[in-house]
Amino acid sequence: MAFSQFAKVAVRNTPTAVRNYSAKTFANGFNFELNETQKEFQDTARKFAREEIVPVAAEYDKTGAYPWDIFKKAHQLGLINTHIPEEYGGLGMGVFDGCLILEELAFGCSGMATALEGTSLGQTPILATANEAQKKKYLGRLIEEPLVAAYCVTEPGAGSDVNGLKTKAEKKGDEYILNGQKMWITGGGVANWYFVLARTNPDPKAPASKAFTGFIVEREWPGVTPGRKEINMGQRASDTRGITFEDVRVPKENVLMGEGAGFKIAMLTFDKTRPPVAASAVGLAQRCLEESTKYAMERKTFGVPIFNHQAVAFMLADMAIGVETGRLAWMKAAWDTDNGIRNSYSAAIAKCWAADMANKCATDAVQIFGGNGFNSEYPVEKLMRDAKIFQIYEGTSQIQRIIISRALQEKAMN
Ligand SMILES: Cc1cc2nc3c(=O)[nH]c(=O)nc-3n(C[C@H](O)[C@H](O)[C@H](O)COP(=O)(O)OP(=O)(O)OC[C@H]3O[C@@H](n4cnc5c(N)ncnc54)[C@H](O)[C@@H]3O)c2cc1C
Repeated sequence: MAFSQFAKVAVRNTPTAVRNYSAKTFANGFNFELNETQKEFQDTARKFAREEIVPVAAEYDKTGAYPWDIFKKAHQLGLINTHIPEEYGGLGMGVFDGCLILEELAFGCSGMATALEGTSLGQTPILATANEAQKKKYLGRLIEEPLVAAYCVTEPGAGSDVNGLKTKAEKKGDEYILNGQKMWITGGGVANWYFVLARTNPDPKAPASKAFTGFIVEREWPGVTPGRKEINMGQRASDTRGITFEDVRVPKENVLMGEGAGFKIAMLTFDKTRPPVAASAVGLAQRCLEESTKYAMERKTFGVPIFNHQAVAFMLADMAIGVETGRLAWMKAAWDTDNGIRNSYSAAIAKCWAADMANKCATDAVQIFGGNGFNSEYPVEKLMRDAKIFQIYEGTSQIQRIIISRALQEKAMN
């Protein structure tokens, strides 16, 4: 039985109380035990990462080719599109279970994990806010075939400052005419459809909460033109591009929620997608820890394995502290959102901590490997390049700290 079928049977056979992502179990107090279905998914993802992803990761990093074979296998195994509800053919999992899978995949290659997770990012606005017909059409399509969705918010002139977006959509009869340029779009060149955030209120003084609208835009529609694949520092298996929208006719049926709701949609998406970014960073940090520990046990200086030098052993101990706390942080943030608890604060903490921690782990891993660490024949050089983006995409580490500090201020005032 293919794993996706197995998973469906497993999910069906699991009592609802357990299926709800251990919500009921956790509700009774703390519980660090995964249920059987979660363990199965984690094991499958771990096996897939180690057997299918690790052996080809360096080659994809070198060529920058899109990892379609990995994407197709992950699709077949049910390791992507996990959040799509059962009525549209998915497994109806929560954020927590998706993170469990993603952490394992990112251990293998965080570039490929981003390629796989990018489609979840594109889907999340639809999952959270689309009507029945939109979900059936656009999510159903992703189950039927291994297709990619993408999330288009950032522009050449505006990333952190979403309010500064210039892409605009003007209503003409039953359509909107979309014009503008997006930048740094994960999966931009391979996606079948996009979530696009555009300004619909031309008044520059209109509040962000009313000025923007979210649209579903198909790749094949006239006027949609992805740019060249960007050559990035790391995570090179992921496809990142600019996209131009020129007089694209978007039917009003493809508006999400309603005109003016776009900013809210974009922000609530991040509450669900930042825990996965954190989980991915933890996966990379875990890889740093394992590679460095192995190397430290083998490499000798002054007649002993370098592990025996306390300076090295303590770097490994610090990595372990980072990995364990990073994992707890994404688990808390994912659990919050799965249980309907507003998690902007815990998601920002998880994303910020895991991103910074992964960068420290990767730098220390290179240090432990010495000269070999600086060379592409060894795995940690790629880990260091791959780690950097975690502090940038889906809100930089500075932006996460702004969210956290605003929450502190809000709390102090109430
Ligand atoms: C590989 C990659 C993939 C991406 N994928 C996507 C995607 O799929 N979809 C999408 O929409 N976007 C995507 N992005 C865009 C990404 O989210 C943005 O790059 C990011 O939000 C930062 O925006 P920016 O690049 O415009 O930097 P800027 O906003 O110009 O920031 C520049 C620097 O200033 C700091 N800064 C800005 N404002 C403040 C402030 N108020 N206080 C303190 N510091 C501040 C930032 O932290 C940063 O260090 C991707 C980017 C990359 C590189």
